[in-house]
Amino acid sequence: MLPTPPVVADGIALFLDMDGVLAPMAPTPDAVVPTARRTAALKAVEARLAGRVAIVSGRTLAEIDRISDHALVSGSGVHGLERRLKDGSIERKTPDAGVAQALDAFEEFAADRPGVIVEDKGVSVGLHYRQAPDEAGAAKGLAAELQAETGLTLQPGHMVLELKTPGADKGTAVTAFMQEAPFKGAVPVMLGDDLTDEYGFEAAAALGGYGVLVGPERETAARYRLDDVDAVLTWLEAVAKA
Ligand SMILES: [Mg+2]
Repeated sequence: MLPTPPVVADGIALFLDMDGVLAPMAPTPDAVVPTARRTAALKAVEARLAGRVAIVSGRTLAEIDRISDHALVSGSGVHGLERRLKDGSIERKTPDAGVAQALDAFEEFAADRPGVIVEDKGVSVGLHYRQAPDEAGAAKGLAAELQAETGLTLQPGHMVLELKTPGADKGTAVTAFMQEAPFKGAVPVMLGDDLTDEYGFEAAAALGGYGVLVGPERETAARYRLDDVDAVLTWLEAVAKA
């Protein structure tokens, strides 16, 4: 059983996944909307940590900003493929040519399958089947085939398959932030729920910090655990006052 993370603020840097950590899972990506409690908690903790807070999500930076109501400057979108630094500048990987091919194939797949949603993120493309779980097998088959053809990285998530431009993940994003002000020299703490967050947990541990798993116990590189989004927000509120 993993313990609850300590409530500390001095010297830590926070890296936060969005879906399943700051926001409950929803039927579609668009169904997640800003809440006053989340926005206030993010702003409070960013002030307490002197800016050492970033959302690190599979969503785009535009989506992170929409859901967090622009609470934070630093952030990384699309599994590390986009990164906004503290000065507001954005680093973005050039989309692999295979992304356009995968987008076409996913759109063709979704066209006659109600509930299957394609999400074009520029540097990657996602195929969501949360509302059509019977299509999971066919979706996985298609994604594996496209991965072999294009050389894109296949990233499975909660009822979503994503084909992305190679060369980044949440771990590379955490590592890059930790080389820059205001993060440099702090102890990185990564909160996440999904398999993609394991890269962030490992990167945090390699830099002297730790991961916090959100959700049920499982095999993980995280050292602590919180139950759900409500527990995360309560913990952030406590850290902001620590
Ligand atoms: Mg997540």
